[in-house]
Amino acid sequence: MKVLIAGAGIGGLATALALHAKGVDCEVHELVSELRPLGVGINLLPHAVKVLTGLRIADRLDAVAIRTQELVYFNKHGQEIWREPRGLAAGYNWPQFSIHRGELQMILLGAVRERLGEARLHFGRRVVAVEETAGGRVRALFAGVDGADLGWREADLLIAADGIHSAVRAQLVPGEGAPKWNGAILWRAVTEDWAPFLTGRSMIMAGHQNQKFVCYPISRAAHERGRARLNWIAELRVDPSTPWRREDWNRPGKLEEFLPRFESWRFDWLDVPALIRGATGSYEFPMVDRDPLDRWSWGPVTLLGDAAHPMYPIGSNGASQAILDAAALARAIAANGTASSALQAYEAERRPPTSAIVLANRGNGPEQVMQLAEERAPAGFARIDDVVPRVELETIAAHYKRVAGFDPATLNATPA
Ligand SMILES: Cc1cc2nc3c(=O)[nH]c(=O)nc-3n(C[C@H](O)[C@H](O)[C@H](O)COP(=O)(O)OP(=O)(O)OC[C@H]3O[C@@H](n4cnc5c(N)ncnc54)[C@H](O)[C@@H]3O)c2cc1C
Repeated sequence: MKVLIAGAGIGGLATALALHAKGVDCEVHELVSELRPLGVGINLLPHAVKVLTGLRIADRLDAVAIRTQELVYFNKHGQEIWREPRGLAAGYNWPQFSIHRGELQMILLGAVRERLGEARLHFGRRVVAVEETAGGRVRALFAGVDGADLGWREADLLIAADGIHSAVRAQLVPGEGAPKWNGAILWRAVTEDWAPFLTGRSMIMAGHQNQKFVCYPISRAAHERGRARLNWIAELRVDPSTPWRREDWNRPGKLEEFLPRFESWRFDWLDVPALIRGATGSYEFPMVDRDPLDRWSWGPVTLLGDAAHPMYPIGSNGASQAILDAAALARAIAANGTASSALQAYEAERRPPTSAIVLANRGNGPEQVMQLAEERAPAGFARIDDVVPRVELETIAAHYKRVAGFDPATLNATPA
């Protein structure tokens, strides 16, 4: 049995490790000619860390990442709305990790190199087209970085983990067009060597759906030195009919387009404008997703990760859901072989929950508590209980955990 994986992002590499753990032969074909540790911070929720523990990766992550201790929501005045423990502090058997996306990707890549061998990794190879052969296998056409025709390759299955601009999805779902933008722009960056805030392992979100600031530390080494490497995201909503620059993970942000709006956000626990100024640069990305699909698989081809279910970066779920996909797919292939029932089983397990998360994130997901506080008390509050009763806050938080599959009792009930 041979499986082709298109894309060496978080989902593609996790899939390679999960298939290898089940004894399935696979090879990864990645568009870029060399993987560099790109991106800024990313979160791995306990359900994904459970999978990575099973794949013997969690210790490597633990050596560099922050074990996130709590998540705190504030209004735009810096007043606390909701605080909840996270990861081990919340009673999960597995931590929540906050980590640099590039470090995560390099750790996964290192493990793929060790376990599958360099010969299973192919860089500078973009999948251009896929087709089913007469025998029910799959043929994929590849092109080089310069567009050179690299010919066809045949296998039993092809997993398209080629991200939000998936070429395979574009072929299989013709006419879908560009991702959908909700009018919000995110400026993401890392500020090095900063003073820790709150517990030193806190993740915070402040503001509301039209203006938000998210911040969390991502380096264990900095934390152990008593300092912080802080990932932050400044988010503003503009008129969605404004033409905006196309989403590109590496597009530099312009300070003057967002910093003035955060100039007054100096809280006693974090000086937001100083932190923004402290970064050497930022990346700009519009908040986009795609409508859930009613199928992911066509014969021997299926979609995974952002190619299958790109979602707003709300609730810290993008990378985690790609990792859960990888585990489910490997289990399905191990149980069913290359029969189409394998992809159907994978899809049946993963499509409904990820579709629900895409839709929940359009309604602000767990961040709805910030929106409620803004709508009911835009000038701030003396007591949050008078504005959003505790039971309402608890219900929103618990509901999202169930939708996103990280309800503690369910998760802890089975081993990694
Ligand atoms: C450079 C980069 C930086 C990012 N930074 C952040 C960040 O800071 N924070 C965050 O939350 N999320 C970030 N993301 C997105 C995040 O990684 C994903 O949302 C999530 O982890 C799901 O992973 P994925 O593997 O499905 O997609 P991705 O991680 O996007 O990986 C897709 C991979 O497929 C490759 N690819 C694309 N087209 C083809 C093709 N035709 N053939 C072969 N390979 C192809 C891409 O080069 C990429 O390596 C970033 C993604 C990229 C590519």
